Amino acid sequence: MKELEVYKDFSLKGYNTFGIDARADRFIALRSTDEYVDLLSSGVLDDGRFFILGGGSNVVFSDKYQGTVVHPANKGVSLIGQEGSRCFVEAGAGEVWADFVDSCISQGWYGLENLAAIPGCVGASPVQNVGAYGKEAKDVIWRVDCFDIANGAEHWIDAADCGFDYRWSNFKGEWKNRFIIDRVVFRLDSAFTPNLSYKALSEALAARNISQPTARQLADTVAAVRDSKLPNPQDIGSAGSFFKNPIVGKTQFDELKAKYPDIVAFPLPTGDFKLAAGWMIERCGWKGRSMGRVGVYEKQALVLVNRNGCSGQEVRRLANAIIANVETHFGIRLDCEAIFVDG
Ligand SMILES: Cc1cc2nc3c(=O)[nH]c(=O)nc-3n(C[C@H](O)[C@H](O)[C@H](O)COP(=O)(O)OP(=O)(O)OC[C@H]3O[C@@H](n4cnc5c(N)ncnc54)[C@H](O)[C@@H]3O)c2cc1C
Repeated sequence: MKELEVYKDFSLKGYNTFGIDARADRFIALRSTDEYVDLLSSGVLDDGRFFILGGGSNVVFSDKYQGTVVHPANKGVSLIGQEGSRCFVEAGAGEVWADFVDSCISQGWYGLENLAAIPGCVGASPVQNVGAYGKEAKDVIWRVDCFDIANGAEHWIDAADCGFDYRWSNFKGEWKNRFIIDRVVFRLDSAFTPNLSYKALSEALAARNISQPTARQLADTVAAVRDSKLPNPQDIGSAGSFFKNPIVGKTQFDELKAKYPDIVAFPLPTGDFKLAAGWMIERCGWKGRSMGRVGVYEKQALVLVNRNGCSGQEVRRLANAIIANVETHFGIRLDCEAIFVDG
C-alpha cells in the first residue's frame, strides 16, 4: 500500500470560496479510488473527527478544524454506456463541476446546460442536489458510487434511493458523514432539448435574439446571467446563496400576500409556494449592509460576502442576525443552505 500524504496544520484558505483563513490539523487529498480504499483501511478516520471537503463553495469554516479534512480529488470523465440517445457518463468526485458541464457539451452529451458555472466539484453535486435555472442534479444523476466510511464497503446507490429534494439529499441528512462519494454517473442525452422553463433565462436569451439556443448558447447565457447576479469567488468571497428559499403552504402564503402584496414567491406543483428569501432579507433592510468584516451582497441579498478577511464566527453572527430579523418581521424562519463546519 502506498503511503497517503498527510499535511499537518494545513491552511484551508485556498480551499473555501468564502476565503476564510481556517486551518485543519490534517489534510489528505485522494487522487484515485485506490487512495479511498487506502484511507478507509488506515484507521485515520476512526476517531470520527473528519470533514469531507470538495471545492469548499458551500461551507463556512470556524478558524480551526481539529480533525482531518479529506479532499476527494480524483478526476476522470468517461462514457460508460449508451442506450439509444441516452448516454451514461461517469465522473470522478474531484472533477470541477463547471469544467465537467463544459466538457459534456463539447462531447455532445446534453442535459447539464442549466447547471453551468456552478462552483464546486462533481462529488458534492448529489449532496445538496445542486440546482439552478429550472434544473436540479437529481434530473440527471443516475447513480452515486461511494464508500461507507465505517467499514470501507463500496456502494452504488441509485438516484431513486438518494432522497433528493430541494437543496437536499440523504447525503446531507441521515447519511451525513456516512459515505464518501468517489464517482457520480449521470444519465445524459445525445439529443439536445433546451430547458427554458426559468423566466429570467428565457428573457436573457430573448435579449440576445436567440429563440432556439444551441446547448453552448444556453450554457453561456446561464453563465452570463449568473455573472450579473452572483459574486465571482475569484474576486469576492462567498458561499453563493446563503439561505434556502422557504416553502410554505397556501394558507400561510395567502396571509403573507395579504400583508405584503409585492412578496416574491413561486408556486410549486405540490400547491405550496417557495418564497424568495432574498426579497425578505432585502425588505428587512439588509441588502448592502455589513457587520464587521462580513456583509450582504449589494446585488443579491441572499448572498453573504467576505468584505475583508472575515472569520467563520463573523459569518455566523450576521447569518443569525438576519434569521432573527426575518423571523420577527415575517414569522418565517430561514434555513442556511451553506454548511457551518465547527472545530
Ligand atoms: C458564487 C456561488 C454560486 C453558487 N450557486 C449555486 C447554485 O446555483 N446552485 C446550487 O445548488 N449551489 C450553488 N452554490 C453552492 C455550491 O456551489 C454547491 O453546493 C456545490 O455543489 C458545492 O460543491 P463543493 O465541491 O464546493 O462542495 P463543498 O462546499 O466542499 O461541500 C459541500 C457538502 O458536500 C460534502 N461533500 C463534498 N464532496 C463530497 C464527497 N466527495 N463525498 C461526500 N460528501 C462530499 C461536504 O462534506 C459538504 O457537506 C454556489 C456557491 C457559490 C460560491
